[in-house]
Amino acid sequence: MNSQTRIITIANQKGGVGKTTTAINLATALAAIGENVLIVDLDPQGNASTGLGIDRKNRELSSYDVLMQTASVDEAAIATAVPNLSLIPSTLDLLGVEMEIAGSADRATRLRKAFRGDNAASPFTYILIDCPPSLNLLTMNAMAAADSVLVPLQCEFFALEGLSQLLETVNQVRTALNPALNIQGIVLTMFDGRNNLATQVVDDVRSFMGDKVYRTVIPRNVRVSEAPSYGTPAILYDLKCAGSQAYLQLASEVIQRERHLRAA
Ligand code: ADP
Ligand code: MG
Repeated sequence: MNSQTRIITIANQKGGVGKTTTAINLATALAAIGENVLIVDLDPQGNASTGLGIDRKNRELSSYDVLMQTASVDEAAIATAVPNLSLIPSTLDLLGVEMEIAGSADRATRLRKAFRGDNAASPFTYILIDCPPSLNLLTMNAMAAADSVLVPLQCEFFALEGLSQLLETVNQVRTALNPALNIQGIVLTMFDGRNNLATQVVDDVRSFMGDKVYRTVIPRNVRVSEAPSYGTPAILYDLKCAGSQAYLQLASEVIQRERHLRAA
């Protein structure tokens, strides 16, 4: 992997908090400004693959093959309809991969090896990894492989629940596998300004996590939720909607932070 590549893992062990939506739209925003972006779909449900219009029958090689070391990152990556955006799709094979690799010494570093192996010609400048809703071996692989972790939190009453466990996992991965791992940031998702509770949640998360929280808050937006059924990112489906605009803003914050992290 070339040394300019930034690898960001999008993780939260809760389902339905906006991981996949963030992966797809952040990736599209980065691709739109000329970055060469790869999404790795590490969720057996394959929502990132479907949301980018890649049907199950077009998933010949997948993240499973990369984890099983039968395909390289460059071999498994396929083009999407979005310019500058490639995808390593997921298949249901991923459901069994934990058991298949549990006995091997490199079980948590397989993805890291795949990225940092000798395919130095890889063209990608950003790699975003979309994790399953679990702190399992797949998520550990994603954290071990990454420069930073980006955490989507849904603006709801239990938003902070589970966050300390997630941060503890990041610490464990940092200690055991990947000393350079950073927190990229925490993004609040599905914000509904008419809901007082949502505003309270934003305040609580900011006072708890300080400037780890991005200034950008992603609003709840029907266009964002419709886009995946057309197999296209919200940013292409409706660039002007509030959700797409928020993801563009988030991308610029992410880039700024990566510059800082890289300089540090
Ligand atoms: P996760 O990957 O964490 O399980 P998703 O990104 O799949 O979460 O989001 C869960 C559901 O919420 C999906 O149906 C998605 O379309 C919807 N969703 C995500 N973000 C928004 C948003 N900003 N506005 C409206 N719906 C959203
Ligand atoms: Mg998902």
